Amino acid sequence: MAVTSWNSIDPLLRAGITVLSIEATTMFIGHFAVGLAAKRAAPRTSLGTLTLAALFLDALWPIFLLLGIERAAITPSTNSFLLLDFTYYPFSHSLLMALVWAALFSIVYFARTKYRAGALVCGALVVSHWILDFIVHRPDLPLWPGGPKAGLGLWNHPVGAMALETFLFIAGIWIYERTTRPKNMVGRASVWAYAIVLMGLYLGDATSSPPPNISVVAWMGLIGWLFVLWALWIDNNREIPAR
Ligand SMILES: [Zn+2]
Repeated sequence: MAVTSWNSIDPLLRAGITVLSIEATTMFIGHFAVGLAAKRAAPRTSLGTLTLAALFLDALWPIFLLLGIERAAITPSTNSFLLLDFTYYPFSHSLLMALVWAALFSIVYFARTKYRAGALVCGALVVSHWILDFIVHRPDLPLWPGGPKAGLGLWNHPVGAMALETFLFIAGIWIYERTTRPKNMVGRASVWAYAIVLMGLYLGDATSSPPPNISVVAWMGLIGWLFVLWALWIDNNREIPAR
């Protein structure tokens, strides 16, 4: 076989690639962007922690899906941003619960580090997730469990959504790059590899075929945690320049 076509790839691998690309779009690289930019406001907080805070609601969501506490459905759409129907996710994605998770994240972080700026920034990052989701999601985000649902629906306009997210992401990388400096080659290369992989996943969303089922979406959703570890590793190999 000389040429590998999309349909000749192993179905499991194909499903994996599809869900990974969906994952990258639903995870909204804007969340990674604010995590990166927040380094300026809390330089002593690791990029790993900042990224975890920015992604926190999406880090909980696949766990709640797997536990059966929350629900989502797959809907065919030509717009790859709209392949998932977030039918019920009040515990990870209502505004009220976002505030509760933000407070908890802040308190735990402060108890461990006694770093006030870091604790405040982490809390703000958890809330920022809901605000960014509010901009892009259709009105599926409850204000409180059982309450009215909100969402401005920028995902209905994929070009606008991608322009916004790409702009935020490049700004985030730029701010992080300028706030820190590499200690070694790893610190220099890892941040660019991170940027390229995330951007590649996001822009390489070539196929809009729906994922096989929701539990696959949930398992793949746990990949977000790997990027938290990657961010931690980047930050361990970079430092804040003395002023
Ligand atoms: Zn989210």
